[in-house]
Amino acid sequence: LVTFRGVRKSFGALEVLKGIDLTVAPGQVVALIGRSGSGKSTALRCINALEPISAGELEVCGYSLHRPGVDLRALRQEVGIVFQSYNLFPHLTVKQNVTLAPRKVRKLNRDQARELASEVLAQVGLGDRMDAYPEQLSGGQQQRVAIARSLAMRPKLMLFDEVTSALDPELTGEVLRVIGKLAAGGMTMVLVTHEMAFARQVADQVVYMHQGKVWEQGSGKMLANPQTDELRQFVGSGL
Ligand code: ATP
Ligand code: MG
Repeated sequence: LVTFRGVRKSFGALEVLKGIDLTVAPGQVVALIGRSGSGKSTALRCINALEPISAGELEVCGYSLHRPGVDLRALRQEVGIVFQSYNLFPHLTVKQNVTLAPRKVRKLNRDQARELASEVLAQVGLGDRMDAYPEQLSGGQQQRVAIARSLAMRPKLMLFDEVTSALDPELTGEVLRVIGKLAAGGMTMVLVTHEMAFARQVADQVVYMHQGKVWEQGSGKMLANPQTDELRQFVGSGL
């Protein structure tokens, strides 16, 4: 579903991705880990073309992002992304937040929108909070609404960038459980996370990035048996 071939990305003179090769098969869960500044978010943002790549080839859901003229709107309908900051509209209810985009894009009527909202909110365990406003919800609940909002577009691929980093520790579990459930349900996903236990548990493939490169990759087991000094130090530092 996603193939990076020698992908490079620079911001001005700074090369942030230095030749990334990576494949994500349908149904796979890939965890990107690594130190701050190693290029995790940049790699993720390239997948839905929030950042254009500088060199190499990147195929996502059948779109060749290295070629000119890619239909970015169509791509982004198939690739959902959820960030650390959930950015819900404060003046809209949970239901309205979740159905805003699909109502516009897929021209759903009121009943269809309500049905869709109740379905995706049930997936994140918030079927009973449809009419609440974001400020009435905890951070963990708001982040789950943000996930539901992405699901409402029926993406083929979901991207998560440190979605629990801004949450109090007691709220991270509920969000990780939702992501784990989506993974178990067969959703293809790439997630940047500092939650090593979670990465080990849900990821089919763990990718350790270091200085803009894929430094080490393997199953979750590689975290228990690092092959490089860099990953050993990273795992040892408790990050
Ligand atoms: P963190 O764990 O802190 O989120 P990361 O691995 O996600 O780090 P990136 O956000 O991908 O790292 O950043 C990699 C490098 O690219 C950093 O040196 C960062 O300063 C730089 N960078 C990222 N975005 C931009 C931008 N829009 N303009 C210039 N430099 C950028
Ligand atoms: Mg980041």
